[in-house]
Amino acid sequence: MDATIRQQIVNLLRKAELEAHDLSPLLSIPEKEIYPHLEHIARSLNREGGRLLIRPCQCLACGFVFKERHRFTRPGRCPVCRATRIRPPAYRIASRR
Ligand SMILES: [Zn+2]
Repeated sequence: MDATIRQQIVNLLRKAELEAHDLSPLLSIPEKEIYPHLEHIARSLNREGGRLLIRPCQCLACGFVFKERHRFTRPGRCPVCRATRIRPPAYRIASRR
């Protein structure tokens, strides 16, 4: 069951860069359940030599990019301007060479 969902996520992210709220309706699972799957996928891709690429979160008010953030979820507010409008991370899977 979980393996099937993960395989679906992998297939989707090989084709397009997507955010968790894009994946949620495609898979019919809540957005918060996407993150543990992504963590699992990142680990298994590592073993296989593939890579899960993450477009970092960005503050929509001042443009600050959360480059140092390695978690899969969105931060609550910007450390620079304290704004709470943060563009969420997007995920993509690099094809193996
Ligand atoms: Zn900001």
